[in-house]
Amino acid sequence: MAQYNTLLYYCYSTIADAEQFAADHLKFCKSLGLTGRIIVAAEGLNGTVSGTTEACKTYMDTVHADPRFAGIDFKVDVVDTPSFVKMHVRYKSEIVHSGLRDPNVINPQQQTGKHLEPKDFLAMKDRDDVVVLDVRSNYEHSLGKFKNAVTLDIENFRDFPEMINQLAQYKDKKILTYCTGGIKCEKASALLLHEGFKDVYQLHGGIIKYGKEAGGEDFEGKCYVFDNRLSVDVNSVNPVVISTCRNCGKVTPKMINCANPECNEHFTQCDECGTKLEGCCSDACQSHPRKREYDGTGYYVKVPQPVNVQKKGKIQLAGE
Ligand SMILES: [Zn+2]
Ligand SMILES: [Zn+2]
Repeated sequence: MAQYNTLLYYCYSTIADAEQFAADHLKFCKSLGLTGRIIVAAEGLNGTVSGTTEACKTYMDTVHADPRFAGIDFKVDVVDTPSFVKMHVRYKSEIVHSGLRDPNVINPQQQTGKHLEPKDFLAMKDRDDVVVLDVRSNYEHSLGKFKNAVTLDIENFRDFPEMINQLAQYKDKKILTYCTGGIKCEKASALLLHEGFKDVYQLHGGIIKYGKEAGGEDFEGKCYVFDNRLSVDVNSVNPVVISTCRNCGKVTPKMINCANPECNEHFTQCDECGTKLEGCCSDACQSHPRKREYDGTGYYVKVPQPVNVQKKGKIQLAGE
Protein backbone atom coordinates (compact mmCIF):
# COMPACT_ATOMS: atom_id res chain seq x y z
CA MET A 1 0.00 0.00 0.00
CA ALA A 2 1.25 3.44 -0.88
CA GLN A 3 2.39 5.52 2.01
CA TYR A 4 1.06 9.03 2.41
CA ASN A 5 1.97 11.95 4.59
CA THR A 6 0.01 14.95 5.71
CA LEU A 7 2.03 18.05 6.49
CA LEU A 8 0.97 20.93 8.68
CA TYR A 9 3.00 24.12 8.79
CA TYR A 10 3.02 27.88 8.92
CA CYS A 11 5.57 30.62 8.65
CA TYR A 12 5.48 34.33 9.36
CA SER A 13 7.85 35.75 6.74
CA THR A 14 7.37 38.65 4.37
CA ILE A 15 6.34 37.63 0.84
CA ALA A 16 6.68 40.61 -1.50
CA ASP A 17 4.34 39.54 -4.28
CA ALA A 18 2.09 37.17 -2.40
CA GLU A 19 -0.61 37.01 -5.04
CA GLN A 20 1.79 35.92 -7.76
CA PHE A 21 3.51 33.59 -5.33
CA ALA A 22 0.16 31.89 -4.63
CA ALA A 23 -0.46 31.24 -8.33
CA ASP A 24 3.04 29.84 -8.85
CA HIS A 25 2.86 27.75 -5.71
CA LEU A 26 -0.41 26.17 -6.81
CA LYS A 27 1.25 25.01 -10.03
CA PHE A 28 4.15 23.62 -8.07
CA CYS A 29 1.89 21.70 -5.67
CA LYS A 30 -0.14 20.28 -8.52
CA SER A 31 3.03 19.17 -10.31
CA LEU A 32 3.81 17.05 -7.24
CA GLY A 33 0.31 15.60 -7.13
CA LEU A 34 -0.35 17.08 -3.70
CA THR A 35 -3.77 17.89 -2.30
CA GLY A 36 -4.49 20.34 0.46
CA ARG A 37 -5.05 23.92 1.37
CA ILE A 38 -2.50 26.69 1.58
CA ILE A 39 -3.07 30.31 2.45
CA VAL A 40 -0.57 32.86 1.17
CA ALA A 41 -0.45 36.42 2.47
CA ALA A 42 2.13 39.19 2.54
CA GLU A 43 2.82 38.08 6.13
CA GLY A 44 3.60 34.44 5.33
CA LEU A 45 2.29 30.95 4.62
CA ASN A 46 -0.17 28.62 6.32
CA GLY A 47 -0.73 25.18 4.89
CA THR A 48 -1.83 21.61 5.21
CA VAL A 49 -0.90 19.39 2.30
CA SER A 50 -1.12 15.68 1.70
CA GLY A 51 0.54 13.36 -0.77
CA THR A 52 2.91 10.46 -1.20
CA THR A 53 5.87 10.36 1.14
CA GLU A 54 8.14 11.11 -1.80
CA ALA A 55 6.08 14.09 -2.99
CA CYS A 56 5.92 15.47 0.55
CA LYS A 57 9.68 15.17 0.92
CA THR A 58 10.25 17.02 -2.36
CA TYR A 59 7.79 19.67 -1.22
CA MET A 60 9.52 20.19 2.13
CA ASP A 61 12.99 20.26 0.59
CA THR A 62 11.95 22.79 -2.05
CA VAL A 63 10.21 25.07 0.43
CA HIS A 64 13.12 24.87 2.87
CA ALA A 65 15.53 25.83 0.10
CA ASP A 66 13.85 29.24 -0.10
CA PRO A 67 15.60 31.47 2.49
CA ARG A 68 12.26 33.04 3.46
CA PHE A 69 10.99 29.64 4.57
CA ALA A 70 14.17 27.94 5.73
CA GLY A 71 12.94 27.86 9.32
CA ILE A 72 9.60 26.17 8.72
CA ASP A 73 8.87 23.38 11.16
CA PHE A 74 6.76 20.83 9.27
CA LYS A 75 4.55 18.57 11.37
CA VAL A 76 4.45 15.28 9.50
CA ASP A 77 1.71 12.68 9.97
CA VAL A 78 1.58 9.27 8.31
CA VAL A 79 -1.88 8.63 6.84
CA ASP A 80 -3.49 5.78 4.88
CA THR A 81 -5.10 8.03 2.30
CA PRO A 82 -4.55 11.67 1.32
CA SER A 83 -6.34 14.01 3.74
CA PHE A 84 -7.80 16.23 1.01
CA VAL A 85 -9.48 15.83 -2.35
CA LYS A 86 -8.29 18.96 -4.13
CA MET A 87 -5.38 21.37 -4.07
CA HIS A 88 -6.07 25.00 -3.22
CA VAL A 89 -3.58 27.80 -2.79
CA ARG A 90 -5.31 31.03 -1.90
CA TYR A 91 -4.10 34.55 -1.50
CA LYS A 92 -5.60 36.32 1.52
CA SER A 93 -4.88 39.37 3.61
CA GLU A 94 -3.78 37.30 6.63
CA ILE A 95 -2.58 33.71 7.00
CA VAL A 96 -4.94 33.29 9.93
CA HIS A 97 -7.90 35.59 10.12
CA SER A 98 -7.62 37.62 13.30
CA GLY A 99 -8.98 40.97 12.19
CA LEU A 100 -5.64 42.32 13.42
CA ARG A 101 -4.40 43.44 10.09
CA ASP A 102 -2.31 46.44 11.06
CA PRO A 103 1.27 45.13 11.12
CA ASN A 104 2.28 48.25 13.08
CA VAL A 105 0.18 47.00 15.98
CA ILE A 106 0.45 43.21 15.75
CA ASN A 107 3.45 41.81 13.95
CA PRO A 108 4.62 38.37 15.09
CA GLN A 109 7.88 38.90 13.21
CA GLN A 110 8.70 41.72 15.63
CA GLN A 111 7.00 40.82 18.91
CA THR A 112 5.27 37.64 19.99
CA GLY A 113 5.08 35.35 23.03
CA LYS A 114 8.17 33.34 23.96
CA HIS A 115 8.13 29.96 22.23
CA LEU A 116 8.04 26.94 24.51
CA GLU A 117 9.05 23.55 23.21
CA PRO A 118 6.57 20.76 24.13
CA LYS A 119 8.73 19.40 26.98
CA ASP A 120 9.13 22.88 28.51
CA PHE A 121 5.40 23.54 28.17
CA LEU A 122 4.72 20.26 29.96
CA ALA A 123 7.10 21.20 32.76
CA MET A 124 5.58 24.66 33.26
CA LYS A 125 1.88 24.24 32.71
CA ASP A 126 0.81 23.14 36.21
CA ARG A 127 2.68 25.79 38.16
CA ASP A 128 0.65 28.09 40.41
CA ASP A 129 1.78 31.22 38.63
CA VAL A 130 0.74 29.87 35.21
CA VAL A 131 -2.51 30.06 33.27
CA VAL A 132 -2.87 27.82 30.23
CA LEU A 133 -4.99 29.56 27.60
CA ASP A 134 -6.69 27.81 24.68
CA VAL A 135 -7.02 30.36 21.86
CA ARG A 136 -9.11 28.11 19.61
CA SER A 137 -12.85 28.13 18.93
CA ASN A 138 -15.75 26.38 20.66
CA TYR A 139 -16.05 23.41 18.34
CA GLU A 140 -12.35 22.73 18.76
CA HIS A 141 -11.95 22.87 22.53
CA SER A 142 -15.24 21.05 23.11
CA LEU A 143 -13.65 18.02 21.44
CA GLY A 144 -10.41 18.22 23.34
CA LYS A 145 -8.22 20.59 25.37
CA PHE A 146 -5.51 20.69 27.99
CA LYS A 147 -6.63 19.76 31.49
CA ASN A 148 -7.43 22.96 33.43
CA ALA A 149 -7.02 25.20 30.40
CA VAL A 150 -8.94 28.45 30.20
CA THR A 151 -11.15 28.37 27.11
CA LEU A 152 -13.02 31.16 25.36
CA ASP A 153 -16.56 31.09 24.09
CA ILE A 154 -15.73 32.08 20.51
CA GLU A 155 -16.96 30.78 17.17
CA ASN A 156 -13.97 32.07 15.29
CA PHE A 157 -10.46 33.31 16.00
CA ARG A 158 -11.40 36.76 14.74
CA ASP A 159 -13.52 37.08 17.93
CA PHE A 160 -10.43 36.56 20.08
CA PRO A 161 -9.46 40.26 20.41
CA GLU A 162 -12.86 41.08 21.90
CA MET A 163 -12.45 38.44 24.58
CA ILE A 164 -9.20 39.79 25.95
CA ASN A 165 -10.88 41.90 28.64
CA GLN A 166 -12.25 38.66 30.14
CA LEU A 167 -8.66 37.66 30.81
CA ALA A 168 -7.73 40.76 32.82
CA GLN A 169 -7.74 38.72 36.06
CA TYR A 170 -4.71 36.80 34.75
CA LYS A 171 -2.55 39.84 33.99
CA ASP A 172 -0.06 39.03 36.75
CA LYS A 173 0.29 35.39 35.76
CA LYS A 174 2.44 33.72 33.18
CA ILE A 175 0.16 33.04 30.22
CA LEU A 176 0.85 29.90 28.15
CA THR A 177 -1.17 29.98 24.95
CA TYR A 178 -1.74 27.01 22.67
CA CYS A 179 -3.61 26.18 19.48
CA THR A 180 -3.59 23.39 16.89
CA GLY A 181 -0.31 24.02 15.09
CA GLY A 182 0.96 27.22 16.69
CA ILE A 183 -0.11 29.77 14.10
CA LYS A 184 -2.93 31.43 16.03
CA CYS A 185 -0.71 31.73 19.09
CA GLU A 186 1.73 33.90 17.17
CA LYS A 187 -0.95 36.58 16.93
CA ALA A 188 -2.84 35.83 20.13
CA SER A 189 0.31 36.10 22.24
CA ALA A 190 1.41 39.23 20.34
CA LEU A 191 -1.95 40.78 21.11
CA LEU A 192 -1.76 39.82 24.80
CA LEU A 193 1.63 41.55 25.02
CA HIS A 194 0.21 44.57 23.25
CA GLU A 195 -2.64 44.65 25.79
CA GLY A 196 -0.25 44.80 28.73
CA PHE A 197 0.19 41.14 29.69
CA LYS A 198 3.82 40.94 30.75
CA ASP A 199 4.82 37.30 30.66
CA VAL A 200 3.40 35.51 27.64
CA TYR A 201 4.51 32.17 26.22
CA GLN A 202 3.23 30.04 23.36
CA LEU A 203 3.36 26.32 22.70
CA HIS A 204 5.67 26.04 19.70
CA GLY A 205 4.16 23.78 17.03
CA GLY A 206 0.88 23.59 18.91
CA ILE A 207 -1.01 20.51 20.07
CA ILE A 208 0.15 18.48 17.07
CA LYS A 209 3.85 18.80 17.88
CA TYR A 210 3.10 18.38 21.59
CA GLY A 211 1.46 15.04 20.81
CA LYS A 212 4.56 13.86 19.01
CA GLU A 213 7.20 15.18 21.40
CA ALA A 214 5.56 15.11 24.83
CA GLY A 215 3.21 12.19 24.29
CA GLY A 216 0.28 14.56 24.50
CA GLU A 217 0.29 14.25 28.29
CA ASP A 218 -2.70 15.92 29.97
CA PHE A 219 -4.37 16.79 26.68
CA GLU A 220 -7.91 15.57 27.24
CA GLY A 221 -9.97 14.41 24.27
CA LYS A 222 -9.01 14.68 20.62
CA CYS A 223 -7.60 17.46 18.52
CA TYR A 224 -9.82 18.96 15.85
CA VAL A 225 -8.04 19.29 12.50
CA PHE A 226 -9.04 21.11 9.33
CA ASP A 227 -8.98 18.22 6.91
CA ASN A 228 -11.03 15.14 6.22
CA ARG A 229 -9.77 13.35 9.32
CA LEU A 230 -11.75 15.95 11.38
CA SER A 231 -9.83 14.96 14.51
CA VAL A 232 -6.63 13.20 15.54
CA ASP A 233 -5.44 11.47 18.69
CA VAL A 234 -2.85 13.38 20.66
CA ASN A 235 -2.44 11.78 24.07
CA SER A 236 -0.65 8.44 24.37
CA VAL A 237 0.22 8.94 28.06
CA ASN A 238 -3.07 9.48 29.94
CA PRO A 239 -5.86 9.79 27.36
CA VAL A 240 -9.47 10.47 28.30
CA VAL A 241 -12.54 11.35 26.29
CA ILE A 242 -14.20 14.61 27.34
CA SER A 243 -16.66 15.24 24.53
CA THR A 244 -20.26 14.11 24.70
CA CYS A 245 -22.88 13.31 22.09
CA ARG A 246 -24.91 16.40 21.40
CA ASN A 247 -28.07 14.34 21.02
CA CYS A 248 -27.97 11.86 23.91
CA GLY A 249 -25.16 13.10 26.16
CA LYS A 250 -23.16 9.89 26.02
CA VAL A 251 -19.39 10.26 26.04
CA THR A 252 -18.06 10.00 22.49
CA PRO A 253 -14.93 11.20 20.68
CA LYS A 254 -16.67 11.25 17.29
CA MET A 255 -16.80 14.59 15.52
CA ILE A 256 -18.91 15.01 12.40
CA ASN A 257 -20.35 17.64 10.11
CA CYS A 258 -24.14 17.85 10.04
CA ALA A 259 -25.45 16.11 6.91
CA ASN A 260 -27.58 19.13 6.10
CA PRO A 261 -25.20 21.18 3.91
CA GLU A 262 -26.88 24.43 4.87
CA CYS A 263 -26.20 23.69 8.53
CA ASN A 264 -22.92 21.76 8.23
CA GLU A 265 -22.22 22.35 11.91
CA HIS A 266 -19.24 20.57 13.48
CA PHE A 267 -20.42 18.64 16.49
CA THR A 268 -19.89 15.42 18.42
CA GLN A 269 -22.37 12.61 17.93
CA CYS A 270 -22.29 8.95 18.97
CA ASP A 271 -22.69 6.20 16.38
CA GLU A 272 -26.21 5.24 17.55
CA CYS A 273 -27.50 8.78 17.24
CA GLY A 274 -25.65 9.11 13.93
CA THR A 275 -27.54 6.14 12.55
CA LYS A 276 -30.85 7.32 13.96
CA LEU A 277 -30.48 10.92 12.75
CA GLU A 278 -28.58 10.00 9.55
CA GLY A 279 -25.68 12.21 10.60
CA CYS A 280 -27.83 15.27 11.28
CA CYS A 281 -27.65 17.50 14.34
CA SER A 282 -31.42 17.74 14.73
CA ASP A 283 -34.78 16.54 13.44
CA ALA A 284 -35.06 19.76 11.47
CA CYS A 285 -31.81 19.06 9.62
CA GLN A 286 -32.79 15.42 9.10
CA SER A 287 -35.87 16.49 7.18
CA HIS A 288 -33.97 19.05 5.10
CA PRO A 289 -34.45 18.41 1.36
CA ARG A 290 -30.75 18.82 0.55
CA LYS A 291 -29.57 16.41 3.24
CA ARG A 292 -26.47 14.47 2.15
CA GLU A 293 -26.09 10.74 2.44
CA TYR A 294 -24.48 9.76 5.76
CA ASP A 295 -21.81 7.08 5.30
CA GLY A 296 -20.86 6.88 8.96
CA THR A 297 -17.87 9.24 8.72
CA GLY A 298 -19.70 12.56 8.83
CA TYR A 299 -17.23 14.02 6.38
CA TYR A 300 -18.38 15.53 3.10
CA VAL A 301 -16.11 16.56 0.26
CA LYS A 302 -17.52 20.02 -0.33
CA VAL A 303 -17.40 21.16 3.26
CA PRO A 304 -17.46 24.94 3.52
CA GLN A 305 -14.54 26.20 5.57
CA PRO A 306 -15.29 27.01 9.21
CA VAL A 307 -13.19 30.12 8.78
CA ASN A 308 -14.31 31.79 5.61
CA VAL A 309 -12.34 34.93 5.15
CA GLN A 310 -12.31 35.21 1.38
CA LYS A 311 -13.55 38.71 0.67
CA LYS A 312 -11.27 40.30 -1.82
CA GLY A 313 -8.32 39.53 -3.99
CA LYS A 314 -9.80 36.22 -5.02
CA ILE A 315 -7.81 34.53 -7.70
CA GLN A 316 -9.36 32.16 -10.14
CA LEU A 317 -8.02 28.71 -9.53
CA ALA A 318 -7.89 26.10 -12.21
CA GLY A 319 -10.35 23.31 -11.66
CA GLU A 320 -12.78 25.35 -9.58
ZN1 LIG B 1 -25.88 9.92 21.06
ZN1 LIG C 1 -27.71 20.58 11.40
